[in-house]
Amino acid sequence: MKSNIIASLLAGGALAFTTGEAAAQNPPPPDHPSVTVHGQTFTPRTILSRNMGTREDQETQFPPHKIIGNIYYVGTRTLSSFLIVTPQGNILMDSTYERNVPVIKKSVEDLGFKFSDIKILLGNHAHGDHMEGDAAVKQLTGAQVVSMAEDVPALKAMKPGGKEHPIDRVIHDGDTVNLGGVTLTAHLTAGHTHGCTSWTTTAQEGGKTYNVLLGCSLRAPANVTPDIAAEFDRSFKVVRTLPCDVQLGDHGAQYNMQEKYAKLKAGAPNPFISPKTCFDEADVEEAMYHALVDEQKAAKR
Ligand SMILES: [Zn+2]
Repeated sequence: MKSNIIASLLAGGALAFTTGEAAAQNPPPPDHPSVTVHGQTFTPRTILSRNMGTREDQETQFPPHKIIGNIYYVGTRTLSSFLIVTPQGNILMDSTYERNVPVIKKSVEDLGFKFSDIKILLGNHAHGDHMEGDAAVKQLTGAQVVSMAEDVPALKAMKPGGKEHPIDRVIHDGDTVNLGGVTLTAHLTAGHTHGCTSWTTTAQEGGKTYNVLLGCSLRAPANVTPDIAAEFDRSFKVVRTLPCDVQLGDHGAQYNMQEKYAKLKAGAPNPFISPKTCFDEADVEEAMYHALVDEQKAAKR
């Protein structure tokens, strides 16, 4: 039964194409305005291509690895998926595209865990490249699917192959998810989507406790409407109040995953512990957001 689901996912994968970053790539966002932050120059187009990579990058397994403590990376080269392991079963954050679910399952198993031990499925935000596979994960694991209230309408519209998007628990800003002694707190950091959720938790390593921030995308759309501006104005403030020693994000490029992964070495300091760079991505996105708003104002004059 379960292997049939995997086979049908693999067969149907080529047809799966829904809303989200990939849809936004065609046509690609403009190559202006540009901002330079922390010595690097970005345009809306380069940010999107940095996030998404090629279609091959979106679908190809990145070596699954331990980030810190009980938190592991099980995503593709450019689309994050995180496994949080507890003594009472595991939590998966982000199913990504439905066609990637077999890739994520393999990564979980390559690390020595069982996919069927996933008890809770969380999401970063209601775009297809992060949450399209939720129905498939639910079918394979029976996990409870948790969704931020403000993202529920967008999730309900996400129906790969006609499947209803499962939603078992609706949460609100500040709510927590608890399993096996692990607590994740949901922080509404809207703008990119109305229910964009940044999650915080803690992890232990070497006898110390570290704050882990699984941040939501803060990438502004090409057209910033007044209600989206109000969301971002709040979110850029909120995100900087969140406790953070280890910053993660829905795309590896948001936290330099590939560079940090390359520095992972037994006995060496954990490259993912980097409190000083926790808000570098917010700096980039906030600068771009203001540049986009300024450009829109200038165009109206
Ligand atoms: Zn998105």
